[in-house]
Amino acid sequence: MVREGSLIMAKSAAKEKGSKPGGGPETLQFRAEVSRLLDIVAHSLYSEREIFLRELVSNASDACDRLRYAALTDPDLAKGDGEYRIEIRPDKDAKTLSIADNGIGMDHDELVDNLGTIARSGTAEFVGNLSGDGAKDVSLIGQFGVGFYSSFMAADTVTVTTRRAGGDRAWRWRSDGKGSFTVEAGERDGRGTTVTLHLREDAVEFLNPERLRGIIKTYSDHIPVPIKLTADGGEAETVNQASALWTRPRNAIDAKQYAEFYHHVAHAMDDPWHTMHFRAEGVIEYTGLLFIPGTRPFDIFHPDRKSSLKLYVHRVFITDDCPELLPAWLRFLRGVIDSEDLDLNVSREMLQKNPVLAKIRAGLARRVLGELQKKAEQEAESYATFWENFGAVLKEGLYEDFAYREQLLKVVRFRSTGQDGLVSLAEYLGRMKEGQQAIYYISGEDIDAVTRSPQLEGFRKRGVEVLLLTDPVDEFWIPSVGVYEGKPFKSVTRAGAELSAIKEDGAAAGDKTQDAAPKGLGVLLALLKQTLGDAVKDVRSSDRLTTSAVCLVSDDNDIDMRLEKLLKQHKQLDQSFARILEINPDHALIRSLAAEAESAGAADRLADAAYLLLDQARLLEGESLPDPQAFARRLEGMISKGLASSGG
Ligand code: ADP
Repeated sequence: MVREGSLIMAKSAAKEKGSKPGGGPETLQFRAEVSRLLDIVAHSLYSEREIFLRELVSNASDACDRLRYAALTDPDLAKGDGEYRIEIRPDKDAKTLSIADNGIGMDHDELVDNLGTIARSGTAEFVGNLSGDGAKDVSLIGQFGVGFYSSFMAADTVTVTTRRAGGDRAWRWRSDGKGSFTVEAGERDGRGTTVTLHLREDAVEFLNPERLRGIIKTYSDHIPVPIKLTADGGEAETVNQASALWTRPRNAIDAKQYAEFYHHVAHAMDDPWHTMHFRAEGVIEYTGLLFIPGTRPFDIFHPDRKSSLKLYVHRVFITDDCPELLPAWLRFLRGVIDSEDLDLNVSREMLQKNPVLAKIRAGLARRVLGELQKKAEQEAESYATFWENFGAVLKEGLYEDFAYREQLLKVVRFRSTGQDGLVSLAEYLGRMKEGQQAIYYISGEDIDAVTRSPQLEGFRKRGVEVLLLTDPVDEFWIPSVGVYEGKPFKSVTRAGAELSAIKEDGAAAGDKTQDAAPKGLGVLLALLKQTLGDAVKDVRSSDRLTTSAVCLVSDDNDIDMRLEKLLKQHKQLDQSFARILEINPDHALIRSLAAEAESAGAADRLADAAYLLLDQARLLEGESLPDPQAFARRLEGMISKGLASSGG
């Protein structure tokens, strides 16, 4: 499969020396991220290096899959050699190990592109983030899958000889994994690819047929093509079961085999968090072997939101790029769907708007949500791991897929002020206070920041639970869902949160637990409003504050403050909305300002204080100040005045 942009990349790979258009080898540089990856691979994955064989066998099997598909429309491609296989040959004398397949092969440009770059989007950034700290990098690379490049764990030189099915020329790629590789004309009898590892001195164990047999059995037993091992001078023996794993009965497959199959289909190194192997019977029949990864793939939030589930028809691989098969909000799923109802000759174009796929998609969404609900209810602790990884992805479904909203609302979980760990909406409803009309939440960038928000104070005091939301997607699904079981979602950063109607712990509703409003409060409010003018929408006395003097809230009909911030960050909004400044009538500072407000000339004397209060509220919101110089000047003035009066 030629990847998008492959030709461009092939051309942009820098040619260094010895490039003769007609003959000799051309030398090309690996892209920077590949060099970095190779460096890490050669040094830090050492302890598990036998997995290079799994990766190469996995690629060989994919290559057979791709040719089998291409041959559906162009049978000539597989002519003369219809029996797909993978051959593994150790050569004791030459100290080489070769892995050969008769799959689709690569032409010159594919070779340069596929084995000189990493085409996956976001790779450069991902590799750039690796720390150089072995243990950490290894676990990060686990989300990534090093594929072909893992061969340098065992080899000091690797050669790849390949010939594209239907092509008439073979090419030879060679590298020591240290920055560059060469490509030149090569020789190969038929189509396919042979990867030859010139083993490192300390890796000669991989010449031992017994060891190889063990590795293949452990990691590659599920590969549907026969893997034939030929030891020096011996007969070829098929080492694996060579049948598609998902066609075997569940009780004949153990967890280890499932995990190895997952590594293969997902190109991943972690273990699945959950495995679903099922057969759907009825109007539409298909087999599914689906996995939910144990770690979050590094590119899960890439804007293309692509899923990579593999679609097979009667055991023939069709595509892993089929948006119709799975809703985008389930894109973390990995694995295989094998349909009995699609036509083998189905073209990728015909997959669009295909009624069979639409049914499979609906069936999968319902099934996966059903499984998640079970896990969430029965294994809450384990579910928390899943939620950490993929909750934010799942929540996308709440605003874009109305059909699953009910089911989704049963599996969403939240951090909250009510308890450690995660809570469900049902639990939240069960803990609502007498008089409480809404499901309260607060949203923001991270849990520490939202937990410190002054707007929470009054809710804490009354023992009213508030959901803490930190995923950007929250700003979108909340307004779209609006209500759960008759209770509206309401941000604590909005006006009219009606806290006073809620009974405080240990007090009867309507009890006057606070001191009466301080004298002069009304005058102070009017004065602040007048001074701040358009900078605020209103100034009000608040019942949501206990320790802080001020906070900002947005008017009920205005855009949510946190959403505004998010949109600005993504440059989707360049307008600012005036906020309501709320002041805490019980706070000592507000009390003394109120007392001062009634005296003559107060408006002039309190002007600086008014702006400082507003700036303070902005800082508490984590916002930057529109005029930091003015803020600093006013603060200096206040401090000097304070010092002068305490000194005199
Ligand atoms: P991945 O398999 O995760 O895409 P690799 O680095 O292992 O990444 O391989 C890069 C690409 O090289 C593959 O996607 C495939 O296009 C190509 N490739 C690797 N091995 C083979 C092979 N045996 N036959 C044909 N193409 C191959």
